[in-house]
Amino acid sequence: MTAVQEKHRTDDLKALAEQAGRDLEDATAPEILRWAADTFGRAFCVTSSMEDAVVAHLASRELPGVDVVFLDTGYHFPETIGTRDAVEAVMDVNVITLTPARTVAEQDAEHGPRLHDRDPDLCCRMRKVEPLERGLASYLAWATGLRRDESPTRANTPVVGWDERRGKVKISPIARWTQDDVDAYVAEHGVLTNPLLMDGYASVGCAPCTRRVLAGEDARAGRWSGSGKTECGLHG
Ligand code: SF4
Repeated sequence: MTAVQEKHRTDDLKALAEQAGRDLEDATAPEILRWAADTFGRAFCVTSSMEDAVVAHLASRELPGVDVVFLDTGYHFPETIGTRDAVEAVMDVNVITLTPARTVAEQDAEHGPRLHDRDPDLCCRMRKVEPLERGLASYLAWATGLRRDESPTRANTPVVGWDERRGKVKISPIARWTQDDVDAYVAEHGVLTNPLLMDGYASVGCAPCTRRVLAGEDARAGRWSGSGKTECGLHG
């Protein structure tokens, strides 16, 4: 594809995303994912942190065998890896595990141990942002489990939007859901969830950067607690 063709394709995709964001604002999550499956087919994937498998489950009903992309940072709780393995074993999805260019040991040798304590932005860039860039390269659209009620930084999440940095359509089919909606869907469909959600964690990320939440805190208060950092850079 020439640079001009690429520019046209990017402009068309961006216009498509923005129009769909308006048209689908009041649509249900299955309707949004049906649109994604019809529009992009196998050029569409779901990303999952393996906090739960709600979006993967929703997507698999519209696009059986859908690719579910998981970032294995090397710092996950064993429960998260176990959830990934269970999803792969029992759901009609194709789990793809992405890994960073360096192992944790190689990163420690190059940057010193516990980079996550000293420079979490650099650690997230190397262990999350860069692997996801590579992993999403072959897709036109990706879905996330972002919800507006999770934190103030996510309050304006569109159900379909344009991922300017990656030049892809970004779909958040449960953006308008509440935690109660998620809990009801999990209960109704027996969807796999990370066991840590039953152990005081409301949002599950890398072990060194995640703590349990206290009563009254928002769901993401346990992520990078005390550092001022609120997002890993995947959704910026
Ligand atoms: S969440 Fe923490 S350990 Fe995981 S990549 Fe980011 S800084 Fe590193």
